[in-house]
Amino acid sequence: MTTLAAAVMEARSRFSEAELADAGIEARLLLAGLLKLSPTEVFVGGDRVLTEEEEALIEVAIGRRLKREPVHRILGSREFHGMDLLISRETLEPRPDTEVLVDAMIPHLRRIVMDKGSARILDLGTGTGAILLALLKEIPAASGVGTDISEDALATAQRNAERLGLGDRFGTLRSRWFDNVSERFDIIVSNPPYIRSDVIPRLDPEVRNFDPLAALDGGPDGLYPYRDIAADAARFLEPEGLIGVEIGFDQQLAVTEIFTSAEFIVAQAERDYGGNDRALIFKLRNR
Ligand code: GLN
Repeated sequence: MTTLAAAVMEARSRFSEAELADAGIEARLLLAGLLKLSPTEVFVGGDRVLTEEEEALIEVAIGRRLKREPVHRILGSREFHGMDLLISRETLEPRPDTEVLVDAMIPHLRRIVMDKGSARILDLGTGTGAILLALLKEIPAASGVGTDISEDALATAQRNAERLGLGDRFGTLRSRWFDNVSERFDIIVSNPPYIRSDVIPRLDPEVRNFDPLAALDGGPDGLYPYRDIAADAARFLEPEGLIGVEIGFDQQLAVTEIFTSAEFIVAQAERDYGGNDRALIFKLRNR
């Protein structure tokens, strides 16, 4: 017979023995998620005796975490910009830093909606749908399309849209960047893969072994997606439109150079919560 409090203690000590950082927080998060409790309920409900099924579920989840699978991937969802998003095998786990790009785009979308009454958004490599869904949640007059090369990702993004009640304004398109895109948009957003291929083996196992490589690997210099996107973006953007991209902490100059060599100028640069350069917004030069 095991109580919830004892199970949390045990998970914590196994996590610390495996030298996982934040063992206590992770133990509580994991058990709370598995038992559908808030972290506070785990504290105050510690006397509760677990059923055998619950104990078995917890044991399997602890085993997965000890193999370095991230807590939210084990639980199957995580919070992003106030939404609960499903994660699947071929979707990047949404990161808090990406909220910076979302928040930077919102005022531009509001202005476009003031001018035109509506706004169309394209999210290249949408994954879970995180960026586009957050924008649609904030801007009721907007609608958009999320592209991805992964059918698994598109299915996950669509499920997320429906779970959030945004399904009527959200569409998916299987496409490598603009390959199958055939209309113009007011706003284009993307968090493309931007990690240099040679850095990937040195990433934390949680990222390296569980986030999809296709969502991380930006090629030999980490910049190939920006080149592909910048080369075609002008053809798919309304004249007054904007394109916003997430970037790696050391890529601001290189990505600016790529977009300004195409038809763009920098409209805005944003840092993340850690003070690193994280998002760039461009507009067309000749307008
Ligand atoms: N920000 C992610 C990381 O550091 C990378 C995501 C990406 O390449 N777009 O793991």
